[in-house]
Amino acid sequence: MTIRHLQQIIRSVATSDGAGVSLRRSLGQSQTARVDPFLMLDEFSSDDPDDYIAGFPPHPHRGFETVTYMLDGHMLHEDHLGNRGDLLPGGAQWMTAGRGIIHSEMPQQESGRMRGFQLWINLPAAEKMKPAHYRDIRPEEIPQAALPGGGEVRVIAGRIVVDGREVAGPVQGLSTEALYIDVRLPAGANFAQVLPAGHSAFVYAYEGNLSIGPAGDPRRLSAQDAGVLSAGEMVEIHAEEGPAGFLLLAARPLGDAVVQYGPFVMNTREEIEQAIADYRDNRLV
Ligand code: FE
Repeated sequence: MTIRHLQQIIRSVATSDGAGVSLRRSLGQSQTARVDPFLMLDEFSSDDPDDYIAGFPPHPHRGFETVTYMLDGHMLHEDHLGNRGDLLPGGAQWMTAGRGIIHSEMPQQESGRMRGFQLWINLPAAEKMKPAHYRDIRPEEIPQAALPGGGEVRVIAGRIVVDGREVAGPVQGLSTEALYIDVRLPAGANFAQVLPAGHSAFVYAYEGNLSIGPAGDPRRLSAQDAGVLSAGEMVEIHAEEGPAGFLLLAARPLGDAVVQYGPFVMNTREEIEQAIADYRDNRLV
């Protein structure tokens, strides 16, 4: 099997979004820092309520999916469809904006640690205008499995095989065939995962440093950076220096033109202008 190399590192940058939430953005910090179909990845992580308390008051989206995955803290999602989702530690929400959604994501705590991720996944051109959909995924719905080399994995989307046993996440059947897993390794442990050869893939190290790639060409990925993987059938990841936690994401690339304007991601400039006009005229959703 060909082993994927760590091809490119996208260092996260400190920024803020929403009403003033401090976060680190790796994918999505520029128009070229994307891994088709993944558009953006933010990590928010703070013990200081001033960094998160303002939250994300009502705002629109069109043309893609957002996935929020919480490690610590408590957030409430509400949208124009009437969905209310309580996001708890270890839980996730999978929102398909489609033609349009207006939602808010507000912290439900005034102190303590808030930590999690928001990922944006593009939709194929043919699905950008489909009806909006929201799914609340409770922590106990995300399967967890012990890894043969030590550590554990949680599967949010797609399926993997661990010790000869299939572990399937709650999110299945996407046309991008996205895989979203959260892996924790003790110091010195190795992790290997087969990935479809034609799929894009990247690793986000949220805790500790990693060594990625075949034995002859391991490259280092530092905490809070995203590492884009080369083509290949398998990835090998080593927690060399201490315990580590990382997200591994893979999906079928779309190859579509991407035109983004803030919370709208379409294929052409005309479609973006339409989205802006629809939002202005209350026709987005
Ligand atoms: Fe949003």
